Amino acid sequence: MKYPKHLLKLIELLKHLPGVGNKSAMRFAFRMIDWKAEKLHEMAKTIEEIPLKLVHCTQCGCLVGEDPCPFCEEPRTQAGSICVVASPRDAFAIESTHEYKGLYHVLGNLLSPMEGIGPEQLNLTPLKNRISDHHIKELVIALDSTLEGDATALYLKREFGSLPIKISRLAFGLPLGSTLDYVDGGTLARALSARSNF
Ligand code: ZN
Repeated sequence: MKYPKHLLKLIELLKHLPGVGNKSAMRFAFRMIDWKAEKLHEMAKTIEEIPLKLVHCTQCGCLVGEDPCPFCEEPRTQAGSICVVASPRDAFAIESTHEYKGLYHVLGNLLSPMEGIGPEQLNLTPLKNRISDHHIKELVIALDSTLEGDATALYLKREFGSLPIKISRLAFGLPLGSTLDYVDGGTLARALSARSNF
């Protein structure tokens, strides 16, 4: 028995989502078939508007739905610190701890020789400018505690170590090999408040 073409297309598209295999995609697709037309339209419209309504801030790289970016506004610019994260998702995770009040900077990648990701693919030049523009005193490195996260943190330390700023990294409480968005808020808050010189 063959599935209708459009259903197969929907299943294939759903499989692009992380953790969604053939079985889950089929389950989602069959559920969506039962949705009312308005709900399907709303879903389609919301997805279609992603590139328009969810943009990356040109300064910090965080995901913003409005201009100016709430992560780049006063009084954050006065805090004297920039928290370096790999993705906008990590900035939201840190923000939810309410432990940090400074600026963010999204690298967009982590160094990975295996995947061919080198320093030129990290969003570093704007970071250098922002450190001087905002009289930054501390760089808080909030990267995953993985091989790639460690390599990137070491690279940042080498790049910015000669500047008269404190460089710290989240350490305490983060399980080895974990990604930041999988850590619960309490652990992340503790790691942030107990960050150490790096
Ligand atoms: Zn911003």
